[in-house]
Amino acid sequence: MAESNVAPSNSTGRGELARRLRAQFGFRSFRPGQERAVRAAMDGRDTLVVMPTGSGKSLCFQLPALELPGATIVVSPLIALMKDQTEALRERGFEALAINSTLSAAARSEAEARIRDGFSGFIYTTPEQLADPAFRALLKGATIDLFVVDEAHCVSQWGHDFRPEYLALGSVIEDLGRPTVLALTATATAEVVEDVLRQLGVPDAEVVHTGFFRPNLHLAVQAAPDEEKVDRLAGFLLREGGGPAIVYSATVKGVEQIAARLAEKGLVVTSYHGRMKRADRDANQDRFMSGEAPIMVATNAFGMGIDKPDVRFVVHVHPPGNIESFYQEFGRAGRDGGPAHCLLLHDEGDWKLQNFFQGGRYPSGEDLVNAHHALKRFGSAPPSFDQLAEVAPLPRTKLKAALNFFRGRQVVKEDLAGRFLLLRDDLDREDITRLARSYEEKDERDRMNLQRLIDYSTMRGCRWAALLDYFGDETTLDECGLCDNCRPASPRVPLPPREQTADALA
Ligand code: ADP
Ligand code: MG
Repeated sequence: MAESNVAPSNSTGRGELARRLRAQFGFRSFRPGQERAVRAAMDGRDTLVVMPTGSGKSLCFQLPALELPGATIVVSPLIALMKDQTEALRERGFEALAINSTLSAAARSEAEARIRDGFSGFIYTTPEQLADPAFRALLKGATIDLFVVDEAHCVSQWGHDFRPEYLALGSVIEDLGRPTVLALTATATAEVVEDVLRQLGVPDAEVVHTGFFRPNLHLAVQAAPDEEKVDRLAGFLLREGGGPAIVYSATVKGVEQIAARLAEKGLVVTSYHGRMKRADRDANQDRFMSGEAPIMVATNAFGMGIDKPDVRFVVHVHPPGNIESFYQEFGRAGRDGGPAHCLLLHDEGDWKLQNFFQGGRYPSGEDLVNAHHALKRFGSAPPSFDQLAEVAPLPRTKLKAALNFFRGRQVVKEDLAGRFLLLRDDLDREDITRLARSYEEKDERDRMNLQRLIDYSTMRGCRWAALLDYFGDETTLDECGLCDNCRPASPRVPLPPREQTADALA
């Protein structure tokens, strides 16, 4: 990684860049880190931007993209996110295309024709689309100034929502003739940062890192038996007199139960989870965003790319699986800079549940060997997922994970009809077991990361200091004065101190 304090280039004067910021986006000034990132990208230096959620990462690529003559590719993990961002850009009068699997054939050929005709705006797309050689050939004919990877932790096998399709982005960048790379994420443990840069093939990229401390977020943790949690939560929300709140549960069932019980208590709630119908999910999200329903009860499916500045509370009724996810989730509070409360409730069963989730996440070496063997049986007639599931001696979830694993390593390819082509029938048991080792390592790391969150929840010292230390943040902080451990008697600590966490666990 390159030294991060590179002097701003002289290509565009300070005043001029700030003027462009006002003219294009109507913002009065840059937020910390933005100007450096914008300049680096405009000067053609590969850059990784690490900034907390809500701090304004999009601007870091959007402003340079507007200033540079050619097109900008933006790799985005979620189609919904892509839709929001391209719509917002178009509202500002900028040109933006979204190329993904939901496009109709007609819309797609229209978009492709625009690219062929020298389109110079934003091309939002997914890693899956970029894996298609025909699409890449089209892009190679265009002038691409900037290759943006948003939510770049997805590239890392140590990032918390690792997607195997992302592994191929390094070779895509290579294939497109190495345009300037700008990657952005809110996740920044040293190992994730290093892995992202390595996977993208830009190990010497400049890193713009703004630090993790959010001085308006009051952190608190309480051990609470499961049956008490909702009462505490409701009491807290009622007493504090409202303000938008996000309540996270670890399971769909949890979401439904919590939402129902809060509603019984007269609170106006809505909910969100991955098993809901798309239309319901969207409607519920709109109700929360508009303020009609001030309380959103959700699984971790809710939140990425959600930009609601005035969230006053984020309560985890169950803890997530690691500190990165936790930080990203509670970081959705107080984006407007006003005071906000972040509360984590936990009891022993929660940690067992997380442990259980993690146990089921990765296929074992044996699962992979079995999946490979089953694929081989289909010979030159590639099976659909269902056909494969019928003959493969492993549960569907594991089979899915195994296929993802193989896809990420170019062992298997999924065609447009959803059939799975075996590209490497030459691998034997030993080869596959060797491949599987990286997953075993990941499993071990996940368990370690979960333990770090358990440690956080039971610690006695300053919680912010512990988080900053975890992220390797240079800010040194002995006492934040904001968290429950720094201000145990403060009336600003959200819940009545029925039992202080530390005492309860001592
Ligand atoms: P992130 O991707 O880091 O989570 P976003 O890019 O979605 O954050 O930005 C969060 C919010 O901050 C958006 O509403 C955006 O318009 C706003 N924002 C970004 N930069 C500035 C700025 N320089 N001045 C004022 N508001 C800004
Ligand atoms: Mg973002």
